[in-house]
Amino acid sequence: MGNYSNQNQVKAKKHLGQHFLNDESVAQDIADTLTLKGYQQVLEIGPGMGVLTKYLLKKDMTTHVIEIDTESVDYLKANYLNLAPRIIEKDFLKYDLNQVFKGEPFAIIGNFPYNISTQIVFKTLELRDQIPEFSGMFQKEVAERICSKEGSKVYGILSVLTQAFYDAEYLFTVPPNVFNPPPKVDSGVLRLIRKENYHIPCDEALFFKVVKTAFQQRRKTIRNSLKTLNLSDNLREDSIFDKRPEQLTVNEFINLTQLIEKDQ
Ligand code: SAH
Repeated sequence: MGNYSNQNQVKAKKHLGQHFLNDESVAQDIADTLTLKGYQQVLEIGPGMGVLTKYLLKKDMTTHVIEIDTESVDYLKANYLNLAPRIIEKDFLKYDLNQVFKGEPFAIIGNFPYNISTQIVFKTLELRDQIPEFSGMFQKEVAERICSKEGSKVYGILSVLTQAFYDAEYLFTVPPNVFNPPPKVDSGVLRLIRKENYHIPCDEALFFKVVKTAFQQRRKTIRNSLKTLNLSDNLREDSIFDKRPEQLTVNEFINLTQLIEKDQ
């Protein structure tokens, strides 16, 4: 009797964003992006058949995985016996991670499902008190956007909100041909390391609102795009309102939020 469970490969499902990495050295390089500083546990999102997981398991920390696809979960259970108790068969976006981590810090890593990549970043930002580090692979354009600085064409909501709390570093590019099936675009690996002081000195909810509203019309001055916030004429005369959102640094967005806070 052959151990057939080891042979069956998971069939890639498009609606789950499945592009399996088939290059061991890239998997190793992604696992090695973790600095292992400030946490003893890591959560891999979307392990699939475990190409990245096996390099995480060699590290001096506890690896948990969250995977929505039953077929992948069955594969992992059959092939990584020690991992079985730490496989969470759930949707990362919906699952309450504190059922597992109970307030403890953990890092996030993955070759992420590209169809939900922005939502993965937003959920990480919500849980930033517990997530000192985040690294992994996105569609290249998304990875670049997260890491870009003011003045860049791709600088936007994701860049500002992420970099308010994390130092973002674009690490390396991965071509389509190392995946099965190959995606249509290049991929990019990045790392976010939480800032030492990641509590911003303004109303955080208002900060999110200001950034999102400003970038809704990225070609206009923020005087124009922030009209909906009903600011006083006096405040709107401040020269910062002459700028377009893509010209503002993260700190300038924080200063702007402080001004608006005082105005209300
Ligand atoms: N890490 C593997 C698979 C990458 S493909 C590799 O590199 O080969 C993306 C993986 O994310 C798939 O296994 C897919 O099933 C999983 N996935 C997709 N949406 C998910 C979600 N909402 N929550 C958890 N996992 C998800």
